[in-house]
Amino acid sequence: MEEKLNHKCGIFGVYARGMDVARLTYFGLYALQHRGQESSGIAVSNGKKIVTHKRIGLVAQVYAEDDLKKLRGYIAIGHNRYSTSGGIHDAHMQPVAQPDDIVALAHNGNLPVIEPIKKFLSSHGISTHGHNDSELMQLLLKFYLVKGMSIEEAVKKSFPLFTGSFCLLILTKDKLVAVRDTFGIRPLSIGKLNGGYVVSSETCAIDTVSAHFVRDVAPGEMVVFSSRGMVSHMLSESKQKLDIFEFVYFARPDSVLLGQRVHEVRKNLGRLLAQEVKVSADVVIPVPDSSIPAAIGFSEESSIPFDFGLVKNRYIGRTFIMPEQRLRDHSVQMKLNPVKSVIEGKRIVVIDDSIVRGTTLKKLVTMLRHAGAKKVHILSSCPPVCFPDFYGIDTPSQKELIASQKTVSEIEKFIGADSLHYLSYKGLISATNLPEEVFCTSCFTGDYPIDIGKQKNYIKIPKAKIPDIAFKTFVTNNKKQSLHPKKSGPSMHTL
Ligand code: AMP
Repeated sequence: MEEKLNHKCGIFGVYARGMDVARLTYFGLYALQHRGQESSGIAVSNGKKIVTHKRIGLVAQVYAEDDLKKLRGYIAIGHNRYSTSGGIHDAHMQPVAQPDDIVALAHNGNLPVIEPIKKFLSSHGISTHGHNDSELMQLLLKFYLVKGMSIEEAVKKSFPLFTGSFCLLILTKDKLVAVRDTFGIRPLSIGKLNGGYVVSSETCAIDTVSAHFVRDVAPGEMVVFSSRGMVSHMLSESKQKLDIFEFVYFARPDSVLLGQRVHEVRKNLGRLLAQEVKVSADVVIPVPDSSIPAAIGFSEESSIPFDFGLVKNRYIGRTFIMPEQRLRDHSVQMKLNPVKSVIEGKRIVVIDDSIVRGTTLKKLVTMLRHAGAKKVHILSSCPPVCFPDFYGIDTPSQKELIASQKTVSEIEKFIGADSLHYLSYKGLISATNLPEEVFCTSCFTGDYPIDIGKQKNYIKIPKAKIPDIAFKTFVTNNKKQSLHPKKSGPSMHTL
């Protein structure tokens, strides 16, 4: 079930004369593996020609020594893909480039509205059939390049037609171009490496290649790396709205987003959860790996001892193929196993970073009870995920989100926990040490900063009403509806 819940992509680029840029990109992609595990690719230019290598699989499986040796040059872009709906397709691997192409493109994000690009290309006789958002962007850039424009001009011309979230790395024969959408929904940072530069979805990969963090690419900015060094062009006024889910789940804890170390923010989430929810328990355990910092923070604040009560099999990736239905039903058991000595006879607090469909926790609660837990209290270190995402996580159907279909007490019953609590929205924001305005919070609030096109007509009022969230007014079934938050009352019930 998790296979369909995809967020997509990690990107990494290098501009460095005299260095093995393909190998550096390979190391960068290795550090960004958590952002996409279905396919990986690198495109390199030596100043004359772009060569691309891409395959289905993890970074370690995609590149052999010989593949890297063939990727010679001084500019490279790389991409780890987490495909959107419909499973694994080699047709849409990135970087987007045809053999002997003049431009290659790596995209992190999603364009919910692609009609304007399609219309433009079609009106100029270019077929758009079967192309996804990233491929359409590359076709549009190519259209302008073929007309003789520079890549800077091509990006400036194309930018207004890109409606959605996008961090782009664009490779031409002699330039590396980094572009971020006006709202900076997905992260993108620049590092310096000897005389050259790297650009990465997350700072953890900048550390991995021993580069030094310089700054983030600003929302609405294009940064061009060439023989002239690093040149910035503002394409639109920055309106920073980083997807707050990067802090909750996506990003690696050692990365820094908007100046905040993800690990520390997640610990804060746990601390605030402990302030909001008072639970009598013997031990607090994380659902590994993404919930570990929050569980540490919860333990520190509540003085309930922390322990590893669940062991994760680290060799099962998200692309793990279940051999048969019987095993598919046991997917949680294959991934997580309880440590009986930590669980047996204990009242347990389980911290999970988020509850999406609720299936993991349902299976987990049963598993913990079989392991002898006396009480199982489930705590989510973010508020209920009530709204689908259109900016890079493929959760298009709101129906699949349990909090949109059930109240908190119905979810508690569904997963079979003794109690279920969510961190408040206020707690989430305050954990980041940043103002609410710099975030895209759409999955919690329904407030979509970028047009999501026709899809807004299908958004419904969620059942799990969150007391401290001011839900956005939006269109439901073509009728304007307002989602009124309850202004008063405790954000969480306490034990
Ligand atoms: P679920 O079983 O559907 O409730 O999924 C919840 C689990 O999926 C949590 O433990 C999260 O760590 C993880 N998760 C949250 N968001 C995503 C996502 N976009 N893609 C894959 N896994 C996710």
